[in-house]
Amino acid sequence: MNIVRIENVCKEYSLGEQQVQALQNISLNIENGAFLAIAGPSGSGKSTLLNLIGCIDTPSAGKIYINGQDISGKTPDELSDLRARTISFIFQTFNLFPVLSAEENVEYPLLQFKELSTKDRSERVVKFLDIVGLSRFSDHRPNQLSGGQRQRVAIARALATQPKIILADEPTANLDHKTGDSILQLMKEINCHFKTTFIFSTHDQRVMAMADRLVRIEDGQITLPNIELDEEAAI
Ligand code: ADP
Ligand code: ADP
Repeated sequence: MNIVRIENVCKEYSLGEQQVQALQNISLNIENGAFLAIAGPSGSGKSTLLNLIGCIDTPSAGKIYINGQDISGKTPDELSDLRARTISFIFQTFNLFPVLSAEENVEYPLLQFKELSTKDRSERVVKFLDIVGLSRFSDHRPNQLSGGQRQRVAIARALATQPKIILADEPTANLDHKTGDSILQLMKEINCHFKTTFIFSTHDQRVMAMADRLVRIEDGQITLPNIELDEEAAI
């Protein structure tokens, strides 16, 4: 099953009088459970594509289906509900709340789910901080944690809503190689264990090499055919 289907999508931004063609007629199917890297130079359209898949922006033309649902016909409320229950984000700058502890950061997205009791929420927080290896740091604030630990909190927060898709915009860009590798490794373990689909952008060859599938974008167009990579074809 394709968890994401993108059909002939264009995205245009207005910049004063000028129009910027950020994505030009992109089509892409992403199968459920993929561990997919979107590669390409700065300005090629990677973030734009992630924002469209994440339903935080809408295409200028074309169709996007998330988990089988055409998102173009949805009201803003329906979209935010779909997003809350299906999609999570990880960022290169972690984007944690600085005044909240690790456990409060992980709990935060769960507050919107009225069906979860306080006990349900705290069980999930404990479980997901454990999965990312940070149980001992649950009361630490972001500024008391290393970059790698902050990204682990962000991953626990992303996982807490039990999403089908995690979108990660350059998740290792602010980490040293060793820490970046361990974050990628953790993402891969989660991908295998929960079958969560990961779609991450990068311009780092080492990060691309860890993907099961690689899509390359240049100047808003897909330049590397979106084939499944076998072991030999992987970089
Ligand atoms: P990448 O993530 O690969 O660096 P982006 O998706 O951020 O690329 O950008 C693709 C193109 O769209 C670039 O030319 C960028 O300048 C332009 N762009 C991105 N966001 C906006 C915006 N909000 N307004 C105008 N132009 C934008
Ligand atoms: P069950 O059908 O008993 O919920 P699952 O295999 O779906 O069994 O889930 C096992 C555990 O993993 C559950 O505790 C659930 O909370 C958690 N889980 C399931 N899916 C996800 C997901 N996508 N992300 C994070 N945790 C998940």
